[in-house]
Amino acid sequence: MKIDITSILKNNGGTIEISMKENLEDLKTDLGAITFVSPVEFIGSVTNFNGMLILKGDAKVDYSTVCDRCGEKIEKSLAVKINEDIVEESRLMDSEEDQKDDRFTFSGNVLELDRILVDCLVTNLPMSHICSEDCQGLCSSCGARLTSDGCDCGNSVQTDPRFDVLKGFFD
Ligand SMILES: [Zn+2]
Ligand SMILES: [Zn+2]
Repeated sequence: MKIDITSILKNNGGTIEISMKENLEDLKTDLGAITFVSPVEFIGSVTNFNGMLILKGDAKVDYSTVCDRCGEKIEKSLAVKINEDIVEESRLMDSEEDQKDDRFTFSGNVLELDRILVDCLVTNLPMSHICSEDCQGLCSSCGARLTSDGCDCGNSVQTDPRFDVLKGFFD
């Protein structure tokens, strides 16, 4: 997604409203169990602030992953508030050369939104996912999903401590 910023480049305080919905190729990177399943939606604006661009708005995407406890497939949606400064590449001071990779930049009259949106979304992904707060995980005997009553196979949620002693024996 490229935004033509010609109209605000020479106009301090000028704003362009952005409303987009697009599949972003970069989101197909390897993120473990996470797969993005919807286009990225972004509604916001980009403003020229003394030659720097300020990108503000809300980005949203749906993704599917698996529950950390029971492995069940779950779909979640991620919404991120975006408020980023974007500097013109040639304006980065020499002293900032080493931070170049940490800063969003633009050059010419085109602003590439993709990398900014992808970066913001990926860094805001939760570290862990569970299908529900009270997910009990899987039964250690039969592998079925546990409910609060344990499992059909007869294994109760609380394992008998006497068996634990035996377990160590046979290992
Ligand atoms: Zn679960
Ligand atoms: Zn079981």
